[in-house]
Amino acid sequence: MSISENIAKIFSKIDEAAEKVGKTRNDILLVAVSKTHPVEKIIEARDCGLCIFGENKAQELLQKYDKVKDVKWHFIGHLQRNKVKYIIDKVDLIHSLDSIPLAEEIDKRAKKVGRKMPVLIEVNIGKEESKSGIYEEDVLEFAKQLTEFENIILQGVMTIPPICEDANKTRDYFKRMKEIFENLKLLNYDNFDIKFLSMGMTNDFEIAIEEGANVVRIGTGIFGSRL
Ligand SMILES: *Cc1c(COP(=O)(O)O)cnc(C)c1O
Repeated sequence: MSISENIAKIFSKIDEAAEKVGKTRNDILLVAVSKTHPVEKIIEARDCGLCIFGENKAQELLQKYDKVKDVKWHFIGHLQRNKVKYIIDKVDLIHSLDSIPLAEEIDKRAKKVGRKMPVLIEVNIGKEESKSGIYEEDVLEFAKQLTEFENIILQGVMTIPPICEDANKTRDYFKRMKEIFENLKLLNYDNFDIKFLSMGMTNDFEIAIEEGANVVRIGTGIFGSRL
């Protein structure tokens, strides 16, 4: 199937899932995950109307950034501190804040370029060793520590749940994320603007939307499988 057919299919599935919870596609931000895919495919997706692209490696993002105009970029992968300076003025949202030293670096670099950087806290909801992210019981405490960073704006949370055969288990992880999201909304700090619950990928975005996701990150479903 072509990229445009893939996108149409994803949107109709988003519509369907959103409708179940009284929302429409306009309430859901679609991040097209373009990692490993060439610039030509990204341009094709852009020309079909997609406007936010997600990359998980700083270097790859830099290469694509100059070649694809009129789109926004989100950083969705584990971010090394020494790479922050390269992307700080190029991305609209970092989904993967997972440590205080990284927050310090983002804050410092954001200040240098004169911006306030929107971030999400990555939550390791399944406590998997292979994944980075904050454990759910530590998220509120971690969030409060971010109040000291004037050039960071906390906008919500992101997760990649463990791969499970059982959709009910996946749903349960998403429900727990929703709870964390709602608890964060209750905190009232100057540099908090809690509005994004980023969860759901090609295989589970419908469940994520049903459980309250308003940002979904879809790669394979749009671009096909990665090489
Ligand atoms: C690769 C990736 C995705 C997209 O995964 P698909 O299964 O291809 O949709 C989403 N989020 C993150 C953080 C990723 O690294």
